[in-house]
Amino acid sequence: MAAEAGPTKRMAESTLLLNYCETQPRDPMKNDCIENVTFWPIDTPVTDPFVVSTGTRIAAENVFVRITLSNGIHGYGEAAPFPEVGGEDRWSCLQSLARLAPSLIGRSVRDYQSLAHYLAEQAPAQPSARCGIETALLDAHCRATGIPLWRLWGGADVRPRVTDITIPIATQEKTLSLACGWYERGFRLFKMKVGKDVDGDVRRLEALHRVLPGISFIGDGNQGFSRAECLAFADGVRQFGGTMVLLEQPVVRDDLDSLAAIRRETGIPVAADESVRSLDDARKIVAQNAADYINIKIMKTGVLEAAEIAAFTLKANLKLMVGGMLESRIAMGCSFSLVLGMQGFEVLDLDTPLLLTADPVQGGYRYEGPTLQPWHEPGLGMSVSVPADARTTSIKRQTLDER
Ligand SMILES: [Mg+2]
Repeated sequence: MAAEAGPTKRMAESTLLLNYCETQPRDPMKNDCIENVTFWPIDTPVTDPFVVSTGTRIAAENVFVRITLSNGIHGYGEAAPFPEVGGEDRWSCLQSLARLAPSLIGRSVRDYQSLAHYLAEQAPAQPSARCGIETALLDAHCRATGIPLWRLWGGADVRPRVTDITIPIATQEKTLSLACGWYERGFRLFKMKVGKDVDGDVRRLEALHRVLPGISFIGDGNQGFSRAECLAFADGVRQFGGTMVLLEQPVVRDDLDSLAAIRRETGIPVAADESVRSLDDARKIVAQNAADYINIKIMKTGVLEAAEIAAFTLKANLKLMVGGMLESRIAMGCSFSLVLGMQGFEVLDLDTPLLLTADPVQGGYRYEGPTLQPWHEPGLGMSVSVPADARTTSIKRQTLDER
């Protein structure tokens, strides 16, 4: 996937204390000013290779962000760049964080909305880097005001919710062994990565259908099918009697005509994922009747624009799905806060922490089988320790004050 390493890149990941240049004067009346922004790369291997139609990942190569306020409160965020969707890789993400963080120093965290707009202007093509900062701002703000993050999104609907589970592209044998393991843990909605081989995809789904009673499928093509291939795939699943509840992004993102045709011709709801990376994209989907669902992902847009798209989607009488990239519980907890705080998310694809070999976070929401249990502590309710060997970058206020 995204090539990394190289001496220059490694150097930029080494521990730095940067002077900042665009800081705001400290407001003595406010004790929630941003004093410090620290971020570090974190690799978490996946339990099984994460193969989708566009490529393979063996680890979540993400960046954690910690914002410290003048009252000592920390807020946490995560950037999970996924090059095939957003065009970012971790290197560009780290660079963007180093460029954006100085402008936050000295600002009150309660200005999170104007800060998010500023970040969007400064780094329009770096949504996952912005998402890491925005999440940390929101977490810090909610901790400072003593409310769980879901409270921020309005009419809270705080109940446990059930997620699907993702099965990557694999051999039929591997597909079966993975799915049987999840089935035993209570999962019944299987999001099948497809889109490379119609016949092979149909056979993999059929194999699960034959041995696991009561399951349903989401077919996520990640843009890998042509229109005709997707129609053949849907027909193949229909012929063996499988229950396909959703076809997610079967064709390339700009081909809205095919998305519209697929939902018309199959009668199966279609979800737009890669097709929607902004509010304008969502407007186009609505204008062309191209999907039934919009898949909200904070890494595609940043958090506040994701909430804006979700509100627009509901107003336009489309349905909401929520998903993520390869994320830990920090980013996924932020997405879960949207589910709990707003209404109308019908399909949850919030499973990627379960696909990782480690959980680098304490506290917050919990998984019980396929069920996500809400938290009630302020912010995300999580704590994160910085690993002793982390290659941290810190942007601090103290340097300027001492000059
Ligand atoms: Mg998808």
